[in-house]
Amino acid sequence: MSNLLRTFVNEPIPPKIIKGEGMWLHLEDGKKYFDMTGGFTAHAVIGWNNKEVNKRISSQLNKITHIDYKAFSDENRETLASLLCSKADHQLDKVFFCGGSGGEACETAMHLSYQAHFEAGDKEKTWFISRNQSYHGATTETMSIGDRPNLEFYRPLYPLNRAKISEHNKYRHKFDNESDDEYSKRCADELEHKILDIGPENVSAFIGETIMGGLVGDVPPSENYWKYIRVVCDKYNVHLIIDEVWCGTGTSGKIYCIDWDQISPDFIFLGKTLGAGYVPISAILTSSKIENIIKNGSGRIENSTTFQGHSLAIAASLGVQSLIHSDGFVEEVNRKGILFRSILQDGLQDHEFFKNVRGRGLRNSVEISCENEHLFGLAVTERMKNEHGILINGKWHRFTFSNAMIISDQEIQWSLDKFLTCFKDEASKWNSDRAKQIKEKQFF
Ligand code: PMP
Repeated sequence: MSNLLRTFVNEPIPPKIIKGEGMWLHLEDGKKYFDMTGGFTAHAVIGWNNKEVNKRISSQLNKITHIDYKAFSDENRETLASLLCSKADHQLDKVFFCGGSGGEACETAMHLSYQAHFEAGDKEKTWFISRNQSYHGATTETMSIGDRPNLEFYRPLYPLNRAKISEHNKYRHKFDNESDDEYSKRCADELEHKILDIGPENVSAFIGETIMGGLVGDVPPSENYWKYIRVVCDKYNVHLIIDEVWCGTGTSGKIYCIDWDQISPDFIFLGKTLGAGYVPISAILTSSKIENIIKNGSGRIENSTTFQGHSLAIAASLGVQSLIHSDGFVEEVNRKGILFRSILQDGLQDHEFFKNVRGRGLRNSVEISCENEHLFGLAVTERMKNEHGILINGKWHRFTFSNAMIISDQEIQWSLDKFLTCFKDEASKWNSDRAKQIKEKQFF
């Protein structure tokens, strides 16, 4: 009898992992897998067992693991905060470390948004608006602004004062006779109407992922979308909170994905990519303007947790982010992303199951359309694993690739060649009998 309560309580115990090395995972039974998922949850953005990060962790272990953020300062926290601001085009110049998870960071941004409005005299701003098909975490607060189907179960527990507008996805919702720019404008108009419905005096912030990530699969905003959204937010004194848990810290080919869109939000929150899986750590970026409101008001940020700015996590993250911020690193991510999408586009463009490939940097997805497409995704995923030892993430309506940024050109070519072969071969045999044989596996 195991004392471990697992998520999928009726499934067999998953295989035992013994080591991660770069892009590879090694199992106890001797098998090894090339990982195109970034540790299944897209966190392993620099691969495993990076010697420089390991060194920083060991060295910090010999000093101190953690001491409260407020009682003592730690030079590494200062250094990491300035590093995170050093290559940004946006105007955010303050970093607040908030704990371990992306969900925690989202909630912290929401709390700080409310607090800043409150201390500036706008005490009724308690509403938050988000978009359908978003994902921001699995705390009660973040579930209420997200749309992950299984979390719908917890709806009776959701807090009040939450509202949603449509998903922003030009592949699905742009009209045929509409330009990208017109579609963006229409989406921003919808936000404006929602703010007016609720009453601008009641709305604290609009929250969105820069590219709609984990659920719909890496959909970049259409032209000028964030510019129009910024204008609406400014007009009604509504904060713009940007979620870069999925697409932050270099994965998009820029340190901040929102820098592709040339606007400055009020908050950006970061999670999994900040510590790249070496440690749980999350943070929000905000501005001196928000800090000044608190300085001239209560003088303290009310939100605090035991492990915010955890010293060991900060040391590890500093190692991860030093690599990501090193000269030429994100430019390479961008270049590799272009190669990645072009291989997929060229290989699939005439295929009847193919709808599109999209993404930024090394956050990419292929959308498909066929009978039982969710099962088709699982079938190709299973074949990639069993026949080629490559882990991918195919489910719902798309294949998502969220591999580590250290992937080489040769590895991109090799793994995508295998993917295209599996995809086409499976498609040539795909019928309802084959679909029935696929056992639905849930990984996350
Ligand atoms: N936002 C986005 C866009 C995410 O992809 C995720 C995690 N997949 C989260 C927030 C939540 O992060 P965490 O699971 O660390 O709470």
